[in-house]
This record gives sequence, structure tokens and C-alpha cells, in this order.
Amino acid sequence: MIKNLDFEKQREAMVNEQLISRGITNKRVLAAFRKVPRDKFVPEEYINEAYADFPIPIGSGQTISQPFMVALMTELLELKAQDKVLEVGTGSGYQTAILAQLCAQVYTIDRVELLAHQAKKLLGELGYENIEVVSGDGSCGLEEHAPYNGIIVTCGAPSIPEPLKEQLAEGGNLVAPVGGNFSQVLTVVKKKATGFKVEENCSCIFVPLIGKYGWQKDA
Ligand code: SAH
Repeated sequence: MIKNLDFEKQREAMVNEQLISRGITNKRVLAAFRKVPRDKFVPEEYINEAYADFPIPIGSGQTISQPFMVALMTELLELKAQDKVLEVGTGSGYQTAILAQLCAQVYTIDRVELLAHQAKKLLGELGYENIEVVSGDGSCGLEEHAPYNGIIVTCGAPSIPEPLKEQLAEGGNLVAPVGGNFSQVLTVVKKKATGFKVEENCSCIFVPLIGKYGWQKDA
């Protein structure tokens, strides 16, 4: 197989054709996508599809999300440079790297120990110093570093896990796919002084959030 190694060109095309053309406008978000080498986060056999417009299997029955979905969720978080963020569902670590470009500190948690381990290694090799990878049930959040200015859940939840709402800082946004096992609605929960405000975005398809405040077991 001949590999197309011109990844920088592919990254630029991805930003223009998949993100800007579909309405992603946040300049800091677009800059992060121009910078993070998505080709490093996909398995070797998918390297030619690294910048393609679809999700890709990453092993352990999980997937790296489509670039547009990663961008949309990131934009909806409305991150500031000084923010602290929690990601539930590390997977490949690609979304984690994008977040790390945009805020001060990222905590990311995956229930599959192998994925957490691989992502930690890769993110270390890429030089990220503002990421902590944890292995465990992220449906309970990560109490010890709460509150978070942003929380992103990259797997589908039956409902918004209560602990995540509690661990969100006032003024912060929580972005999560909520719904059934095979289709969900991308949901944004904003924590205001007066209470929670819930907004629904688009429909989406994610692998399930499995845990105490998610689905009970592998379906
Ligand atoms: N953000 C990832 C997408 C990973 S897919 C990326 O950019 O590659 C979703 C991930 O959620 C899977 O790795 C899965 O293992 C993880 N997951 C499912 N339930 C979880 C839970 N309760 N806690 C933490 N991670 C969970």
C-alpha cells in the first residue's frame, strides 16, 4: 500500500472541507485542528483514512469520532485558555489533544485500561504536559479535581450523569450525547447561578457510556 504522507495538506483540507464549510467558526478551535496530528491517533491500517470524514475503529470495540463531531463538541464547550476540563472517554486521545491546545489542564478518563494506557503514552510522546489520563468509570466524574469549567462526554449516556452536573463549575458547559444505545442527541448543559439550562443540538451516534451512571453493561 502506498501511503500518502502529506498529512499537513490533508489536515488543512479537513479543516476547510469538513469543519469551516459546516459552520465551525471558533478560530482557536480551528487552529487546534490544524495542529494536532490525527494520523498519530488512528491504527496503522487506517492511516490513509486518518483525515477522512468518518469515525474509525481504534480497537477494544471503540472508535475515534468523526472530525466534525470532535470540532462541534469542542466549540460547544466555549473554552478559555485558563480553563480546567474533564473528558469522559479518552479513547485514542485525539479529542484530549485538541482540548489540551485550548485550555490550561485536561483530565481524561477511560474505563478500558488498555486505551487509557496507550493514549497516555502517545500524548506523552507528543509532548503534552497539561493532560492527566486516568483509568476508571468516568460516569462518576473525577471528584478529586472538580469543579471543571467544561465537561465533555464522548460516549452515549442514557441521561446526564448527576455527578457530572455536580462537578461542573458555575458558568461551565457540559457536552454529552444523550439518548438510546444506537442514536443520541448532542446535549449541552449550562450551569448558571440560577440553575441548569439544557440545550439540544444535533443527533449523533456514539458508543455507549458504560458505568454506574450510564448503561449497566456491554450490550
Ligand atoms: N474521545 C475519543 C472517543 C472515544 S470512544 C477519541 O477522540 O478517540 C468513547 C470512549 O468512551 C471509549 O474509549 C470507551 O471505552 C469510553 N467509555 C465508555 N464508558 C465509559 C465510562 N463509564 N468511563 C470512561 N470511559 C468510558
